[in-house]
Amino acid sequence: MDTLPQHYHRMVGLNEDWTISNVQLDTDARTLTLALECVRSRVACSECGASCSKNDHAAPRSWRHLDAMQFQTVLTARVPRSACDVCGVKTIAVPWAGKHGRFTLMFEAFAIEVLQASRSVQAAALLLSIDWSTAQTIMERAVHRGLERRSLEEVQHIGIDEKSFRKGHDYVSVMTDIDGSRVLEVAPERTIEACDRLWNTLSKPQKKKVRAVCMDMWQAFETSTEKNVPNAKIVHDRFHISKYLNEAVDKVRRAENKQLQADGDERLKGLRHTVLFNPENLTEEKNEQLSVLLKSTLATGRAWTLKESFRFFWDEDDAVGGRAFFDRWYSWAIRCRLEPIKKVARMLKGRLDRILTWFSSPISNGPSEGFNSRIQSIKSAARGFRIFEHYRIRILFFCGKLDLIPNDI
Ligand SMILES: [Zn+2]
Repeated sequence: MDTLPQHYHRMVGLNEDWTISNVQLDTDARTLTLALECVRSRVACSECGASCSKNDHAAPRSWRHLDAMQFQTVLTARVPRSACDVCGVKTIAVPWAGKHGRFTLMFEAFAIEVLQASRSVQAAALLLSIDWSTAQTIMERAVHRGLERRSLEEVQHIGIDEKSFRKGHDYVSVMTDIDGSRVLEVAPERTIEACDRLWNTLSKPQKKKVRAVCMDMWQAFETSTEKNVPNAKIVHDRFHISKYLNEAVDKVRRAENKQLQADGDERLKGLRHTVLFNPENLTEEKNEQLSVLLKSTLATGRAWTLKESFRFFWDEDDAVGGRAFFDRWYSWAIRCRLEPIKKVARMLKGRLDRILTWFSSPISNGPSEGFNSRIQSIKSAARGFRIFEHYRIRILFFCGKLDLIPNDI
């Protein structure tokens, strides 16, 4: 039968270089402390791997390990320092932890799994009995590990989008791999420099493989993308286009509602959702309100019809059909006497070539991509981040599809 130290030696998974010299159980504090000792007289240099004699020992250190039942388990050791002829005196690498980690690799791996499975970082931290900043550190280390291992060889369709950050009107720019459905990088603000920073994620040969880039009609993103991937097609995102049309309808409705209410006419009251949602998602009651609206002579009904008819643009077979559709729609929109709609129509006309690219590269940054809702929930779970880097790490941790788990465990 094992003695107690041998028993723990096997549980921790230590190799023969190490032994457990002391086991201390504190039942009041509910901690189990295992003191580890290196039994080899010669050790490997952590820089070059050469076998060296021991010089001395570094100061005592401790690492949090996986709990043993209800006891928080801590490993402690004075790690030997090697006297290498080439590299000088170096602290040797220990098999159970990374270089500057305060946790064993097994604990980190477990913590990463718990963080990914938990509703919020706070909930995970509570389960793991770690504090918030420790959880943040574990996520940071995991993301850096994942980024180092990541392969970007097959990225052909890129999405560039903005996300709001903090409570006000700050933004971050997010680059995604559309086919891989993963976030590649996040940069502060939504300027040309921000977008350049995103593009720097890819090497020159990788950039050459990018065929199409989906984005909002945002000049800074366009300028940077033209410069960084001159051969890629730019595709203006259809979900942003429908958002602009929706906003235009809402402007028309608000202005008209104000006018009507001044005369005691309540026909447009409470119709906001009715005119903004797709009709197939409306309740029967709201669909009825909509049909009453469309039979009226109200401007809001006209605006709604223009917005709604634009949805058929995307059903055209190719860019030729798309252009013909657009020309018809445009001449109708521009004569509608509704300034917000005309404004959007002119904007679309000015960017038409990069909207028609959709027919050869039907890509979008739309809500069907799982990470959009995930980013939204990251943001609301954190009640608005104050520090950009925290937000970036969180997005890459949850939406980067990175290989986060430490090796060698
Ligand atoms: Zn060395």
